[in-house]
Amino acid sequence: MRIFVTGGAGFIGSALVRHLIENTEHEVLNFDKLTYAGTLSTVERVASSNRYRFVQGDICDADAVKAAIAEFKPEIVTHLAAESHVDRSIDGPGAFVQTNVVGTFTMLSEARAYWLGLDDEAKAAFRFHHISTDEVYGSLGDTGLFTEETPYDPRSPYSASKAGSDHLVSAWGHTFGLPVLITNCSNNYGPYHFPEKLIPLMIVKALAGADLPVYGKGDQVRDWLFVEDHVRALHAVFEKGEPGRTYNVGGNNEKQNLEVVKTVCTILDRLRPRADGQSYATQITYVADRPGHDKRYAIDASRIKNELGWEPAETFETGIEKTVAWYLDNQGWWEAIVAEHKADQRRGLSV
Ligand code: NAD
Repeated sequence: MRIFVTGGAGFIGSALVRHLIENTEHEVLNFDKLTYAGTLSTVERVASSNRYRFVQGDICDADAVKAAIAEFKPEIVTHLAAESHVDRSIDGPGAFVQTNVVGTFTMLSEARAYWLGLDDEAKAAFRFHHISTDEVYGSLGDTGLFTEETPYDPRSPYSASKAGSDHLVSAWGHTFGLPVLITNCSNNYGPYHFPEKLIPLMIVKALAGADLPVYGKGDQVRDWLFVEDHVRALHAVFEKGEPGRTYNVGGNNEKQNLEVVKTVCTILDRLRPRADGQSYATQITYVADRPGHDKRYAIDASRIKNELGWEPAETFETGIEKTVAWYLDNQGWWEAIVAEHKADQRRGLSV
C-alpha cells in the first residue's frame, strides 16, 4: 500500500514512518513542513529505503498538497501534522487555528478531490485517518473514563483546534462520503520526543542539574501510552477500522504528573547517578499552574481492543524505563535540539 503521512518528522509521525518501513512492505510519503517540532533526524534510520520519500511542504498550501498527492497516489492518508504543545497554544493560538483547523480542511479538500477521481474499488478502499487527542473531551473528575460517545468539551486553544479538525473530518465523512477514521489518543511518550514535553524535558533538565518545574501541585492525572503502542494502534485502525468510526486509544496507565517526574528521577538515579550521590528528585520545584489546566484524562479503549484486537505491549513501568535509557543512549539527538532552541526560555529548553 501507499501511505501518505503528514507530520512524519515529528514525534508520533516519525514513529509511524519507522514502523511502516521497518515492519511492513508499504510505501511511505512523509509530508512535513519541518517546523520547530519536526526534524529529519527522527527518520534518519529509514531514509535510505526505496519505499520512503520525503516532501517538505505545508498542509495549509493546497497546491503543494495537491501536487504531492497526485504524484504519490496514496491509498491511505494518515494526517498527524499539527501544532501540538498546549503551552504554545496559550501563548499564540493563531498558529493552532491555522495549522490544525485550516490545514486539516486543506488536507480533506485535496484528499477528496483526488478520491473523486478514483475508480469504485479504489474509492471504497481509500481511507483518510485523522490522528487526534483525548483532550477534545475536556477534563474528568476523580472517576469515569472518556468513551467514543463522550461529548466534546475542549478547554485549551490546542484541544479546541483539534476538536474543530475532528468535526471537519467527521463532516467530510457524513456529507461527502469520504471514508474517514478518527483516533483520539492519550498522552504519548517514548524515543524522539521533542524536549519541551514533560518526560523528555525532565530528563534533559535533570541531567543538566537544573530545576525540574512541576505545574501546581503536580496532581493532574494523565493516561500514558508508549509511542510504539500508539503507532501499532494507528496501523490496526487504518487497515481494519470501519470508515466513519472513532477509536479511542489509551494505555490504561493513569499517573499523576508528580509521580511521572519522580519515576523519571528514580530511573536516572539508578542508570546515571548524580556525582554527589543525591537523588535527582531534590531538583523538583513547584511553579504556578498552567491556566485552565485540565485535572484528569482517562481513556476507555475497549472498542479498539474488542473490535480490532489491539493491546498495548508496554506497561508504564517498562515503557518509561526504555524511554529514559533511550535518552541516555541518544544524548547527541536531543543535545542538538536543545542547542538550536537555546534562546527559548519560555519552553524551558534553555537548560
Ligand atoms: P509533534 O509536534 O512532535 O510533530 C508535529 C509535526 O507536524 C512536526 O514534524 C511538524 O514539522 C509538522 N507540522 C506542523 N505544522 C505543519 C504544517 N503546517 N504542514 C506540515 N507539517 C507540519 O507532534 P506529535 O506529538 O507527533 O503529534 C502528532 C499528532 O498526534 C498531532 O496531530 C497531535 O495532535 C496528535 N496527538 C499527540 C499526542 C501526544 O501525546 N503527543 C497524543 C494524542 C494525539
